[in-house]
Amino acid sequence: MAFEGLADRLQNTIQKIKGKGKVTEQDVKEMTREVRLALLEADVNFKVVKDFVKNVKERAVGQEVMESLTPGQQVIKIVKDELSQLMGGEESKIAVADRPPTVIMMVGLQGAGKTTTTGKLANLLRKKYNRKPLLVAADIYRPAAIDQLETLGKQLNMPVYSQGTDISPVEIAKQGLEKAKEEHLDYVLIDTAGRLHIDGELMDELVQIKEAVNPDEIFLVVDAMTGQDAVNVAESFNDQLDVSGVVLTKLDGDTRGGAALSIKAVTNKPIKFAGMGEKLDQLEVFHPERMASRILG
Ligand code: GDP
Repeated sequence: MAFEGLADRLQNTIQKIKGKGKVTEQDVKEMTREVRLALLEADVNFKVVKDFVKNVKERAVGQEVMESLTPGQQVIKIVKDELSQLMGGEESKIAVADRPPTVIMMVGLQGAGKTTTTGKLANLLRKKYNRKPLLVAADIYRPAAIDQLETLGKQLNMPVYSQGTDISPVEIAKQGLEKAKEEHLDYVLIDTAGRLHIDGELMDELVQIKEAVNPDEIFLVVDAMTGQDAVNVAESFNDQLDVSGVVLTKLDGDTRGGAALSIKAVTNKPIKFAGMGEKLDQLEVFHPERMASRILG
């Protein structure tokens, strides 16, 4: 489960301070030292950790007195608030275009879970928001990707637009959009190509697709298990494409949680969804506050 180690360590740390009727500066210092170590061990970006600890310390030392909480509980509340802020604070909403269809471009490196997430997101849009999505297969370099999307479409009983591999991804994306308009579908999810590494050619193509279809959202799919690499990948994609949000996959297998805790601070883009397993219904709207509560118990 995600954040296992971090949750254990932080819960241990806050347990010590919980019952205190008086919290001294020394107590805060000791606690923040442990919080710092716990976050670093969870593979959180070091600069993010530094800022986090500074914020907690400042607030905890000069803390506003709330009568309903003991001083110890107040310090814990501060840590929880800051942890939630770190992951974006509020749950972020998914865009809805003024005139349908809403266009979502899915981008990311190969293996991150982009195609699977495209199917999961379509499923969620239908189930939770009662929307009708079209899946567009624009990853022409990995032929299996088209088959994979078509299989997902069959499983979900949802339309898939594909044109094989002899046509440019930009054309496929444009045609897919037209098709959705004709059929009065309200979301278009474009599954773009990924590579093993970020390269100029890949980025150029994604920029071209972006210009051609003017997406309402660009979701970057990153693998939480890759930790700080996921954060670096997010930074590069965001520099080139100005993505609108991140989908963190494989959070079910990521016991450390470093990517989840660093991405918002580093890229200033919110985590919108989290993949919690391979199945099509295992995509969750990402709730920073709930996640912080889960970590702190
Ligand atoms: P793509 O190359 O980015 O399109 O990646 P795929 O969608 O083909 O996914 C790569 C692998 O990751 C597949 O085996 C997926 O089942 C798996 N996967 C995707 N999302 C998740 C997730 O949230 N949790 C787990 N455990 N596996 C996932």
